[in-house]
Order: sequence, then C-alpha cells, then structure tokens
Amino acid sequence: MNEIVYLNGDFMPLENARIPVLDRGFIFGDGVYEVIPAYSRHPFRLPEHLARLQRSLDAIRLEPPLADAEWTRLVHQLIERNAAEDQAVYLQVTRGVAKRDHAFPKGVPPTVFMMSNPLVTPSRELVERGGAAITATDFRWLRCDVKVISLLGNCLLRQRSVDAGAEEVVMFRDGYLTEGSSSNIFAVRGGVLLAPPKNHLVLPGITYDVVLELAAANKVPIELREVSEDEVRGADELWLSSSSKEVLAVTTLDGHPVGDGKPGPVFKQIHRAFQDFKRKVMRQAA
Ligand code: PMP
Repeated sequence: MNEIVYLNGDFMPLENARIPVLDRGFIFGDGVYEVIPAYSRHPFRLPEHLARLQRSLDAIRLEPPLADAEWTRLVHQLIERNAAEDQAVYLQVTRGVAKRDHAFPKGVPPTVFMMSNPLVTPSRELVERGGAAITATDFRWLRCDVKVISLLGNCLLRQRSVDAGAEEVVMFRDGYLTEGSSSNIFAVRGGVLLAPPKNHLVLPGITYDVVLELAAANKVPIELREVSEDEVRGADELWLSSSSKEVLAVTTLDGHPVGDGKPGPVFKQIHRAFQDFKRKVMRQAA
C-alpha cells in the first residue's frame, strides 16, 4: 500500500501532496504539530494529544481549523488508509500561504497536513541495554512548552548526539535539567523519581504524564521539582520518555555509566507497567 496523506481536505498519495513555497510554514516555520502513536491501529491518548494541539494553536494565535470530532475522524481514516499496524500520526497546521510579511495575514486559511509513518519503538535489545546520551546547554527559545514546527534548535542539538553515536541529548538551562531534543527526561535518586515540572522550558509530554501516573500507581515516590545538573550527573537511573521511544533507560551520559551502567530497578518496574498499560488500553479500544 502506498503512503497516504491528508492535505487541506483530501486524502492522496504522499508523492501527490504539494504546498506553495509561500506557505508560512516554509517561510517562517509558522505552525504547530502533534504526533500521536497508534498501536494495532488504535490511537493512544488521542484526546490528550488534541488538547495539546489546541493549546499550541492558542499559543500562536491560530484559529483551530477543525473541531476535535473532525480531527478524531480524520486520524482514524488516515490510520485505516496506511499499511502499518503501529503508526505515528503527524498533524501539522501552519498559518497558510501569504505574501511574505512577518505580521499575520488576514483571512488566509491555514494549511492542514497529516501523515503517518510506521511507529518504530525501541528494540528489545535497546530496552535491555539502555541508550547513550550526551549533554548540552539548552539554547532554544523560551516557549518550549509549545509544539511548534520551528524545530531548528532541537535538530541542531539532536545532531550532536547523532555525531556522538548517542540516542539523545540531555539539556540543561542555567544549571537545571530541561528535557531531551525530542523527549522528556527523568532521574531516579535513592528510589525517588525526580521530574522537572511542566513550565515554559519543556514540552508537556503525553508520555511524561503516563509515566507519572504509572509511577504513582506503583507507589514510586515522585518529586516534581527543578532537578540540578549535579543531581542528573549523579543519578542512580536516567530515563527518557516520548511517544515513539515510550520509556527508555539512559545508561551512559557523556560516556560515563549512569548508576551501574544498566537499566535500573525502577525503570524496569515502570517499563513493564507501561507495556501492561498499553495492552490494557488497546484491548479496551478493540
Ligand atoms: N520534548 C520534546 C522536545 C519532544 O519533541 C517530545 C516528543 N514529541 C517530547 C518532549 C515528548 O512528548 P510526547 O511524550 O508527547 O511524545
């Protein structure tokens, strides 16, 4: 089956989808997006993803092009039209096509694009071994809570980890942990799960919420607070979370082992809980 995408009202093969070069997404990176994982063709936490999309649209002062019920219908249709059982569904909205001017154009319809990629979660081997991460100063802007398509900062930072052969980059701002280039970061010290609170410096991850819910349900003590760079560097465990990586242990940081260099006991407990939770949700949806 060919890859099918949705663009401004129609489904079509990916190779037929075209947007004008004056789209503000291309010219200014003026738009927002969402990524929704779908397991066995069931979107995971769709209402939460749509609520975050709404907050992103509000933050950039863009009228929602579609109501949640319409997004929901389109997400299901897109999943049906694509081949993979597990998919990563991308929703992308830009401020539309207009003569180049920083100021917002008037009366211009937004560009609405959706695509689906096969969802590739970490291999069993990676889950059991854990991944490498490097650190970097977080030099992005001050609205990292908004899921904007202008991802140049994230791309530059992510590439550093690729160049170093690592899975992710763990970022600090003013001596405190923010997040990864495309994930949220957690630390465990003395059996306590430390998570940076949601604020303008981090994306409010949908998986971050799931991890905290599962930690609470499994009686893991949680501290939602600023986490210092020293606490991260001396952590017993480090994890990352995202819609595609789910929850993954970080077992080396800048080439040094995290804790004993293996995925820790709290990680294993939450990873198992995550897999169980996923199965339960999918059974209910089926
Ligand atoms: N932070 C950043 C910068 C991200 O790009 C992502 C992934 N989209 C996340 C955190 C994790 O968010 P989620 O769990 O919703 O995928």
